[in-house]
Amino acid sequence: MPKRTKPERALPAKTPPGRKKTRLSPVATRAPHHGPATGEVPQAAASFLSTLGEGIAPYPIRGNEPYMNPAQKEHFHRILLAWKKDLMEEADRTVHHMQDEAMNFPDPNDRATQESEFSLELRTRDRERKLIRKIDEALLRLETDEYGFCDHCGIEIGIRRLEARPTATQCIDCKTIEEIREKQLNG
Ligand SMILES: [Zn+2]
Repeated sequence: MPKRTKPERALPAKTPPGRKKTRLSPVATRAPHHGPATGEVPQAAASFLSTLGEGIAPYPIRGNEPYMNPAQKEHFHRILLAWKKDLMEEADRTVHHMQDEAMNFPDPNDRATQESEFSLELRTRDRERKLIRKIDEALLRLETDEYGFCDHCGIEIGIRRLEARPTATQCIDCKTIEEIREKQLNG
């Protein structure tokens, strides 16, 4: 029988706290096949929305309703606020966790482990803060009617792309070109 390795403790979790792994049920991915093609919800959009605490359904696009009409703007307003709320709650949990644990380890080795765990959590918090700032910028663009349009070429970013990446400021073409350019610069 293989020797059991001794259990390691205080290792940081593989997935950062609060980042839920979501799995789409087969029912959710198989949309009924009627209505315009724009009504189909790609998995990326549906799966991001399902990670939100409030669980927001993809926007039901009707016929040829105008892009970024009040109902659509309200939809993204809800998404951005729900996302921000989730991130802020997550940040709160991180802080409380660190406060709870701060005095628990008199042993220097334990403290070292704990410190590396803390630095991981601090990096997570830093990422959350940046994301929250991006969300605030997106909320501002909603107010000034700039939200949903590519800031490079001005075309519509698209409901489904925005549902997958609500802070997107570029259309998929401009984003792709930018990524290729970055790759060329770095490689
Ligand atoms: Zn563009």
